[in-house]
Amino acid sequence: MPAKEVGETDMEDKIIIFDTTLRDGEQSPGASLSIAEKLEIAKQLAILGVDVIEAGFPVSSPTQFEATKQVAEQVTGPTVAALARAHERDIEAAGKAIEPARKKRIHTFIATSPIHMEYKLKKTSDEVLKMAVEAVKHAKSLVDDVEFSPEDACRSEMPFLIEILTAVIEAGATTLNIPDTVGYIIPYEYGRIIAELKAKVPGIDKCIISTHCHNDLGMAVANSLAGVRNGARQVECTVNGLGERAGNAAMEEVVMSIHTRPDFFGKDRDRPLTTNINTKEIHRTSQLVSRLTGFLIQPNKAIVGANAFAHESGVHVDGMLKERSTYEIMTPETIGLSGSRMVLGRHTGRHGFVDRCKQLGYKLTDDQVEHAYQRFVEIADKKKEVFDEDIAVLINDEIHIVEHTYELKHLRVVIDTETTPTASVKIKFKDGIIEAQADGDGPVDAAYEAIKQATGYSPKLENYSIRAVTSGKEALGEATVKIKSDGRTHIGRGVSTDIIEASAKAYIDAINRMVAVQGTGEEPEVKVEL
Ligand SMILES: [Zn+2]
Repeated sequence: MPAKEVGETDMEDKIIIFDTTLRDGEQSPGASLSIAEKLEIAKQLAILGVDVIEAGFPVSSPTQFEATKQVAEQVTGPTVAALARAHERDIEAAGKAIEPARKKRIHTFIATSPIHMEYKLKKTSDEVLKMAVEAVKHAKSLVDDVEFSPEDACRSEMPFLIEILTAVIEAGATTLNIPDTVGYIIPYEYGRIIAELKAKVPGIDKCIISTHCHNDLGMAVANSLAGVRNGARQVECTVNGLGERAGNAAMEEVVMSIHTRPDFFGKDRDRPLTTNINTKEIHRTSQLVSRLTGFLIQPNKAIVGANAFAHESGVHVDGMLKERSTYEIMTPETIGLSGSRMVLGRHTGRHGFVDRCKQLGYKLTDDQVEHAYQRFVEIADKKKEVFDEDIAVLINDEIHIVEHTYELKHLRVVIDTETTPTASVKIKFKDGIIEAQADGDGPVDAAYEAIKQATGYSPKLENYSIRAVTSGKEALGEATVKIKSDGRTHIGRGVSTDIIEASAKAYIDAINRMVAVQGTGEEPEVKVEL
């Protein structure tokens, strides 16, 4: 292999991480995020070091437009991308939404597979080609950085794929994304498609080839890496593999594969491939996305699952004690799990608490510090040891609040094995307190019935889950609920050392979110698949 020329950029050694958690990930049914939550995630993605943030699909709704615009205004570092179909209106909206960003990209797409062109678009391939070229030219008139995706590329005919990519490169596209929209491809085939395009599309050597794989057959990450191995230099992915159906390629798995196997990703090269990701921020980012979307992480999930680094088998533990690398291919520290756990307690003063928050990377306003500290004191009182995970949950509870239209002031639940449980609540609303009482099939049900009566809302409960933040019988419980009303899903969370109280808080939180959205009178947004 020839040595590198002096001055040659290291671009070809770098894998661009294009995060689409806020666009493709957010499309998971029930994962919808508020603007404030999207901003919070976008800021964390910037700290994590992603190169591109796809912030939304601006034409689809005023909220999507506003969220994309606020990310463009407030998040510095990564390029901010917006999605647009190959329509004038979409591209205008995308261009306008990302206008404030320092680095901006319009990502436009159109389906190119025979099945999509015939049944979905009802257009001939000539018409599709013309629309793609016009869309890219229009985008190019607004920004320099234009990405084009032939949707359902992996089921498209190779000659047409080559023809359309050649045409969009001439029209100004600089990133060419090859989506496996339906999650159908196998790594060997995907690698071959990327290699063939790289060899046959004129002008492609001046562009970045990108992967965008879905996980319907569980191969999104494997396909993305096969793409990388064959010349792709951008990977589109989401935190925790979030996304509709089986999800997208998981960012943390792609990044840690490249990080852990420099021997493989450096084979036949001068230098191994790398990313700009600060891997120590992976765990924190994963937790934040899980909490805000209400999508729990399965314990055996690679890299970020609770058991991903737990070695319990006797033989393993023995080996680990002798030499960590006997069974451990990555250290938990690499993804930001601290090896030695810091424990706070009742005797931790304000200074110690604030210090720990800073060490954990939280930047809080004085008001937030005050609230979080009050909660910490209450919890430290009930629970002897307060772990980092507890602090993270408390702080997230503090900083992701929507307006508290309703606030739980008092909850009393009576459980008697002979009769049905009853609950009474006092809920603050405007300047008054509403009281209500109800019974139910169980204590949580009784509490929810009382809340329904007090607020006058009875949204359908779609999902309810509770998890212990740490182990032990005094552990903090975090309840997550999903409610549905008018075709929209709202997620609520609540934290307490008492699981019934946590459940009640979560339900009220979801109602507050529902009320906040209803006030806008906005239509549900248009969804696209890509
Ligand atoms: Zn997708």
